[in-house]
Amino acid sequence: MRLDSEVYRPDQSTDLHGQSKKGGRIFFGTDHSGFALEMHQTVLGPGVASHPPHKHVHDELMVVLDGTLETYVEGKTEIAEKGAIILYASNQMHRVRNPGNVPARYYVIEFRGQSAS
Ligand SMILES: [Zn+2]
Repeated sequence: MRLDSEVYRPDQSTDLHGQSKKGGRIFFGTDHSGFALEMHQTVLGPGVASHPPHKHVHDELMVVLDGTLETYVEGKTEIAEKGAIILYASNQMHRVRNPGNVPARYYVIEFRGQSAS
């Protein structure tokens, strides 16, 4: 689907209703050149990791909206506070974890390109 101009209004709530994490896709589509882009939002509970470290061909960008994330890339960890932006380059092992005691909310933009997987 070709992306069109749009204002998206994701749920801003960090209430996990007893779950360890929640999230959802905001959009997925292609730009003018056929390049695929995906955006989603995730909320992680205290101490929760997004998933075990993984890697993929596409580059990935995260924007921290609430709370704090601990980012892991290729064996190194770093704290990313509210307002910070994390870029994961192609094929680097990475994951995020919430090291705090309140929920962490962040946006993810995946530059999927021609291989939409
Ligand atoms: Zn990833």
